Amino acid sequence: PRQIPDKLQGFWRLSNLTLPVHEDPGKDSFLVSPALLQRIADLLDYPVASMLPAEAFSVVRKSFDARKIQKEPKFVYTVDMDATKLVDLEPSTSDFLSHLEPKTGRVEHMSERKLSGDLIGILRNTKVDGDAEAGVPENVNTASMGKHKLDAVPKIAVVGSGPSGLFASLVLAELGAEVTLFERGQGVERRGRDIGSLAVRKILQLESNFCFGEGGAGTWSDGKLVTRIGRNSEAVLAVMNTLVRFGAPENILVDGKPHLGTDRLVPLLRNFRQHLQQLGVNILFGSRVDDLLIEQGHVVGVKVSDSRERPPCLGRNAAYDAVILAVGHSARDVYQMLLSHNVELVPKDFAVGLRVEHPQELIDTIQYAKLANEVRCGRGKVPVADYKVAKYVGSKENGACYSFCMCPGGQVVLTSTDPSELCINGMSFSRRSSKWANAALVVTVSAGDLDTCHGPLAGVYFQRELEHKAALLGGGNFVVPVQTVTDFLESKLSVTSVPPSSYRLGVKAASLHHLFSDHITEALQRSLCLFDKELPGFISKEALLHGVETRTSSPVQITRDAETYESTSLKGLYPIGEGAGYAGGIVSAAVDGMYAGLAVAKGFGLLPDGI
Ligand code: FAD
Repeated sequence: PRQIPDKLQGFWRLSNLTLPVHEDPGKDSFLVSPALLQRIADLLDYPVASMLPAEAFSVVRKSFDARKIQKEPKFVYTVDMDATKLVDLEPSTSDFLSHLEPKTGRVEHMSERKLSGDLIGILRNTKVDGDAEAGVPENVNTASMGKHKLDAVPKIAVVGSGPSGLFASLVLAELGAEVTLFERGQGVERRGRDIGSLAVRKILQLESNFCFGEGGAGTWSDGKLVTRIGRNSEAVLAVMNTLVRFGAPENILVDGKPHLGTDRLVPLLRNFRQHLQQLGVNILFGSRVDDLLIEQGHVVGVKVSDSRERPPCLGRNAAYDAVILAVGHSARDVYQMLLSHNVELVPKDFAVGLRVEHPQELIDTIQYAKLANEVRCGRGKVPVADYKVAKYVGSKENGACYSFCMCPGGQVVLTSTDPSELCINGMSFSRRSSKWANAALVVTVSAGDLDTCHGPLAGVYFQRELEHKAALLGGGNFVVPVQTVTDFLESKLSVTSVPPSSYRLGVKAASLHHLFSDHITEALQRSLCLFDKELPGFISKEALLHGVETRTSSPVQITRDAETYESTSLKGLYPIGEGAGYAGGIVSAAVDGMYAGLAVAKGFGLLPDGI
């Protein structure tokens, strides 16, 4: 049999392979089509594309590129080639591979494939022998390792079942800790009913809503899985693979802009829950952690307010060796509670603004021109169009205005956690088939610009004030104040009947230009004009601004040690995720939870030193 020289063995990554829409099988297909094989042959200088075995190639990324600098929108592929599957090729593999090396910059040789396994794979990569899935790895002596040196399995409380809390629980349970997961909200089944009654009967359950409940803030969301923390990093791949393991479609591993949609998130979370329970995690819904029990500067447990009707299986006060705080940034009562214990909270920059909504067809046309016909409400060949815009209209620190959390084919939803406050966000279903496109347009608020009389929670007070004002402008009962973009730009309210909105609890025309300080209003107005230059037609009579978008990220950070993840001011407390100021979005929160789980496990000797 033919041999491939050692230096050519392994995998080759082929990037920037492009196919125009008419040659591509479409957005939902990740196959190595004959057209793609032809592009691969062109890149490799291989004479007959049809002789290349398709099984030697696998698509690792597929994106749709509709940027205006392109003559026409196209699909862009990254493909991995397994050299061992090319041995019988004519002309001989070694002949044609040998001339490849770094010829075009689009071909990269990898001695091993850059794909990781799943989360368990990551744990196994820690070189602990034994089966991580089966509990504590066999060769780890929990009593003799780690700084906490317990004689028994550590008891860990995880507070919050958002992505960060779920992944922290998963890692710790896989590594053998005894985990209790407290969640103030309800499991997805009952949470779904509560959200339904909010939409139909305008009843806001204080503990079970768009922010609180199983899966956290991202459950009734667009489920975008894009992240700025490095799409190809081991940690992100581990999170994505874990989501696939619990039921996400495999295309999230390949899609350039992966998203799930609420309809896929709900069953995924149910599977996640069942797996955690099989690992022995005690999951308590309707269990709000109200306080920390502290002895000699060390957290020793939590005080729980249990809203369940059934007798609780745990007492109000429960003892733990460590408490992982994964509460998200809407749990403002938790920040207050932490301050009462002198836990260090540091104000950080965040952003506020409005949510703009356009007809999706308009955004499709702006982005794709004639190709917009191919979208067909998410059923066509090209993806429902999105956008991302950002402009500086003042200083870099204080004048950034940008779009955030864009939901193509989605709807505007209420994310208030208190009936006297009004704030909104966006969600969608997997098909993204609604008539609407919405996105937050937000302006950076610098921590230094806020009223210092509220101490580290100045940002929270600022958010609250805006949410109160928005509720008043809407006239109450969760009615959202809205204004056409054209009126907002002229600081006037010319129409009382506004274009239709996807928001289901009612909208009312209002002077949103009075909602913010002049600085923020002007920044929004000026950047809208700049966005319109980039996306002609963005300023339109059909474009409707909704108020107010305040909870884009946490206005505080709970300081922690970079290695151990332990609070710098309170031993035994591990602040993680978005609420602690270490993540922004589903994937980064999950990654933070995963690393925090590993750090805590290491501290308790569930991992050997040196990892
Ligand atoms: P959270 O998800 O906020 O979870 C915190 C959990 O802690 C909650 O379940 C809460 O009920 C619980 N909790 C709070 N206090 C207590 C307490 N005292 N006791 C017990 N439990 C408590 N991000 C994306 O990446 N893509 C998107 O498409 C996207 N869309 C979004 C749409 C909406 C409508 C919203 C609201 C957010 C969206 N986000 C999106 C943001 C994303 O949801 C968050 O960044 C992410 O969920 C943060 O994860 P987390 O685990 O840090 O906190």
